[in-house]
Amino acid sequence: MKIVITAGPTREPIDPVRYISNRSSGKMGYAIASAAVARGCRTTLISGPTCLPAPDGVEMIRVTTAAEMGEAVDAAIADADALIMAAAVADFTPANPAAQKLKKDRGLPSIVLQPTRDILASVVRPKKTFILVGFAAETENIEAHAKRKLSVKHCDFVVANDVSGFATGFDSDENIVTLYFQSGDVVKVPRADKRSIGTRIIDAVFELTNNH
Ligand code: C5P
Repeated sequence: MKIVITAGPTREPIDPVRYISNRSSGKMGYAIASAAVARGCRTTLISGPTCLPAPDGVEMIRVTTAAEMGEAVDAAIADADALIMAAAVADFTPANPAAQKLKKDRGLPSIVLQPTRDILASVVRPKKTFILVGFAAETENIEAHAKRKLSVKHCDFVVANDVSGFATGFDSDENIVTLYFQSGDVVKVPRADKRSIGTRIIDAVFELTNNH
């Protein structure tokens, strides 16, 4: 079984020294990658910039922008059985990043944004039995958003978590998630360390694969 996992934020350059990004630490995706290795998977971890060391046993691919992450995912899934998109991919990127550092004495710059590619919604499954897993990090209406993502992005299941609190979600070592499946099944995973949640997610991927 080969599993590709994305993790962390992406950075979208404004100029050579500034960027737009988000609060993702990468911990959830790295924990899933460790769990996948422990379950004997060939594991590729495609990560945006984080402070975390590569988990033992993974093939590590480091990227910076959403565009780079998209290209790395396309290449890595060609011979894979599953993709878990745990990365917090930036939704917007500056349309025309400046070639040189913007100088403050030149006045306030206006930064025009354009949408990034939605990687999860646009990947081409390399085979029928391929498992696609999305994340939904929300601050409100979690269930509605997760179910919409499940259908719009054609995922086999969506891992939803509430990032409005500080004890779980972004940058925390723990998380509380709910898995929403295409079958309509809903599995609530009580508060646990991210590694245990990673194992639950990998187990769910195995179950779906075995049912194919
Ligand atoms: O639409 P939203 O960003 O909330 O969806 C989150 C899910 O979509 C996550 O799995 C994330 O990795 C993925 N995503 C993506 N490409 C984007 C934005 C989000 O693959 N540009």
